[in-house]
Amino acid sequence: MTAVSSEMRAVQVPDLRDFTLPELTEWMTGLGEPPYRAGQIFRWLWRRQVGEFREMTDLPMTCRQVLEAHARVSTVAVVAIQSSQDGTHKLLLELPDGERIEAVLIPEARRLTACISSQVGCALGCRFCLTATMGLHRNLRPAEIAGQLVALGKTLGSGNHITHIVLMGMGEPLANYTATEKALRILIAREGLAFSPRRITVSTVGLVPGIRGLARSGLGVSLAVSLTATTDELRDRLVPINRRYPLRELLQACRDFPLPPRRRMTFEYVLMAGINDGSEDAHRLVKLLKGIRCKVNLIPLNEAPEIPFRRPSRQQVEAFQKILERAGTIATIRESRGEDISAACGMLATAERPLDSVCSVP
Ligand code: SF4
Repeated sequence: MTAVSSEMRAVQVPDLRDFTLPELTEWMTGLGEPPYRAGQIFRWLWRRQVGEFREMTDLPMTCRQVLEAHARVSTVAVVAIQSSQDGTHKLLLELPDGERIEAVLIPEARRLTACISSQVGCALGCRFCLTATMGLHRNLRPAEIAGQLVALGKTLGSGNHITHIVLMGMGEPLANYTATEKALRILIAREGLAFSPRRITVSTVGLVPGIRGLARSGLGVSLAVSLTATTDELRDRLVPINRRYPLRELLQACRDFPLPPRRRMTFEYVLMAGINDGSEDAHRLVKLLKGIRCKVNLIPLNEAPEIPFRRPSRQQVEAFQKILERAGTIATIRESRGEDISAACGMLATAERPLDSVCSVP
């Protein structure tokens, strides 16, 4: 097939990895196939991770021919892997149209967390985030969000598997809500990647309609909200989306978010020296979060030349934490992971920092 005709085909026929199982069932029955075929195909796509119809050997030949004519299956390719001294791996991934995104694998004790992207770049312009410097190239499709797990899984040695997922890579997942929700359904589906929703965290800077949508979806995934400022005046400057969804509205959406027993919402707070790390900020944070079952993750800023702020001293970070703890708020300091390879929080930006080495993930 020539490049032009394969591109046209990509536009004309659906990518089966974009479908949730109910959507695939509807599409297959539209082709005159029995509904149970959708389950067979879904398992091939996500559990066995096979993308070639000819390899789906339990489908009748006629069905495989129908699929060849009417559908395609896209894959996310690993282009390069960079490994940090602390065991973190940053992966450069290529999408079918050649756009590139990044994902990070973070091993900790008995966990292996995959931090995945939801957009190529981001439009929200948070002042402390390197991804913001790229602007938004485009949204990812469901196949591209969930497909990152397939790509990452293939780099792992035998016996290793991803235990937790955070949508905290490039992009704001709730600004790409429909694709994110579909991808979550694929990740959770028993016939799909079968992750427990408890082990999936969606991170947002505060898109209230998306938080409310996630609450209504009944998916049961965890929510992390990047708060980072305790007054609207400061938050308007650091997180411009605050002008549309100010703190009061955001925190009400958090209060309304359904939390299963014993689970807590996470608030991320990026600490910047002299900007939001004072004792008055800590006291205001305690007040704002009153009544919300939550924990606070304090993230000392990961510095970069493009970011106009500095990281506070360890002493200052610990003093901030103590104020929260004394007031009964659970507060942890996130130890930066993968900083030497620009894989730490807020440091993902492919356009600015191309990867240069390939190695295998243990
Ligand atoms: S912090 Fe998140 S929402 Fe803000 S610019 Fe960076 S990627 Fe976008």
